[in-house]
Parts: sequence; C-alpha cells; structure tokens
Amino acid sequence: MEGERHVFGKTSKIISLALPKATEKLCELCQRPANLQCTGCRVTFYCDAEHQQADWLGIHQRICPLLVPIRTLTLQRAGQSEIQLKKAELMEICRSVAQSKLSEGKHKEALPAAQFCLCASIDIHGPSTVQLVPVYLLLADANMGMGNLKLVAELLSQAEWAVLKSPECGHEVYHQLHRSLGRLHVATGNLEAAVVNFANDIYYSSEEYGLDSTITCRGYVLMADVFAKQGKTPIARSLYSEVAHTLHCLLNKLINTKVQNVQNPGMWSEPLFGKSQQVEVGETLRTILEFWQNDSRNDSGQIALVAHCLAMLEFLGGDSLKALGFGNMALQACQLIPNHDLVESIQALLQLVQRLQT
Ligand SMILES: [Zn+2]
Ligand SMILES: [Zn+2]
Repeated sequence: MEGERHVFGKTSKIISLALPKATEKLCELCQRPANLQCTGCRVTFYCDAEHQQADWLGIHQRICPLLVPIRTLTLQRAGQSEIQLKKAELMEICRSVAQSKLSEGKHKEALPAAQFCLCASIDIHGPSTVQLVPVYLLLADANMGMGNLKLVAELLSQAEWAVLKSPECGHEVYHQLHRSLGRLHVATGNLEAAVVNFANDIYYSSEEYGLDSTITCRGYVLMADVFAKQGKTPIARSLYSEVAHTLHCLLNKLINTKVQNVQNPGMWSEPLFGKSQQVEVGETLRTILEFWQNDSRNDSGQIALVAHCLAMLEFLGGDSLKALGFGNMALQACQLIPNHDLVESIQALLQLVQRLQT
C-alpha cells in the first residue's frame, strides 16, 4: 500500500566540517540544496524528511551500505573497473526494485528506484545511448501511473531521441517504446496515433517473442481497447476473442505441465509463470472479461472461455479460492449454451483445485 508506515532509516543535520570544502550537498530526490544526511551511509543527502522517507521506502533501504564505496572511494584506492562494476550492480538492483514495484501498481514508490537507475545508467553508459531507453521507459511508466503526462511525454521523447541515434537497437526496444507511446496517446485522447503505435508495438513484439506470446497478446488487447473506445466494436470483439483463444491454449499447456509436476513430485520444475508475467496476463484477461460482460451481444461462450483462462491462471499462481471463483463463473456461463465443449475441462480443473487444496 502506498504511504504505509515503515522504519524510515535515520538522518542527522549535515555536519559541514566533516565534508570537503565547497561541495554543496543536493537532495537525492529533487536536487535542491540539502540539509539532512542519512546516518547509515553518510553519503546521501535530503532537503527534508519527506524526501528522505520517500527515498528510504522506494530504494535507499536496499542500497544504503552499497553507496558508501561508490561515493567515497577515490580512483587511487580502487580501480576504475571495480567502481564501474559496483555501479552496474547498483543499477541492476534499482531496475529490478522499480520493475517489481510497478508490477504491483506502486507507481509512487517505484519513482526513487527508477530515478536512481537513470542517473546510474547515464553515469555508466553516457547520455542519449540506447541502453538508457528501457530506463526512460521505466521512469515514464512510474510517472504515467501518477498522471504526470507532461513528464511522460518528455521522457518518451528522450527515449525516441536515443533510439533515433542508435538505429541498430533491437526489436525489444522498439516494441517497448511504441507501447509506451501508445499508452501516452490513449491517456491524452489521441486515439488515432495510439492505434499506429500499438500496431508497431505488435509488429516488433511478435518479431521478438512470437505471435502467440503473452507480450504480443497484451499489445493486441491494448489496441482492441482503443477500437472499443472509438466505437469500432466488431474489430474490438474479434481481437479480444483472438487473444482469449491464444491465452486459453497457452494456459491449457501450462496446466498439463503442472499436472505432470504434481504426479511426479520428485522432479525439479521451474515456476511456470514469472510474477510479472502472471500480473500482466491477469490484467489482459480481466480487461477482456469486463468487455464481454458489458457487451450488448451477451456472449456467454466468450465469458466462459475468459473465466476459464482466469481460473487456470489463478490456480497456477497458487490462489485456489480465486481459481474456484472464476471456475464456477465459467461453468455458469457454459450452462447458458447447450453442449458447450468447455464444461468437461472446467469441471476437471475445479476437481484438481479442490483435490490439491485439502
Ligand atoms: Zn528533496
Ligand atoms: Zn544511507
């Protein structure tokens, strides 16, 4: 939960005698003159307690001791390459913290980590390099969630500039950039431009991950959302149903693997879905379900299909209560259609969930 109370680390007034002369200390978060310092590392400064707390919660509690060597070691005492290595390690921690907070919807808390990650990346790779693009997009994502659209537009144009200067950058980068631009255009109501960006997003992500990947599916749903907003309902319907079928096939395969793992408990098995993938697929499916629930056609077949997908997804994620809820929703929708071919497989899933629950 954003704003939750934690132990926030400790600060003291900056002791200026202990610092080299003529170096004005700036706030870690806003770059304004600082008068507090972290008593843990003594190398991080803040303008006020609010910024110290936001930084502590967002990233500083993870990296406080790691900053000491980077900010105090001189080149004589440690090799250039050793410092670079430590910076790269820090950048990676910040990137993963920002990403996991974003996938939990904690946009404000993700900001300090994303901001630190950008500073560290510029430091390591230099300004306007293609390595900065994913970090600009991370920071744009955090700001998008907070509604800072003007800042998002600035960050994305920085990212576009870096991409322009590095035409050799891969499909993944183009896919991410177009997706973020599409989202910005949706937020500012420029739906025509959003469709163009999402079409590009889908092209690059299908080249990189395949047409059936969950990442490409997300792109199709983002585009379908725009068509639905524009009143182009038939295209939206066909895209939503296409994605639901693709995800249904994928989840069925994963369930079969899971059943095999349950039957051979000694076998080592990887988690079937990463956490962020689980969250993304869940969002995609809930968007589609909501569409069909509000659609004038009242298509029970589609509702059954998507609810079945969600039941499988929740089961894979280990939430048996939600799995049973969506499973029963799927079964109810099936009963409105005679001879629906999903009934058996939904019932099998419900039995499996119940069996493993006890
Ligand atoms: Zn500040
Ligand atoms: Zn500290």
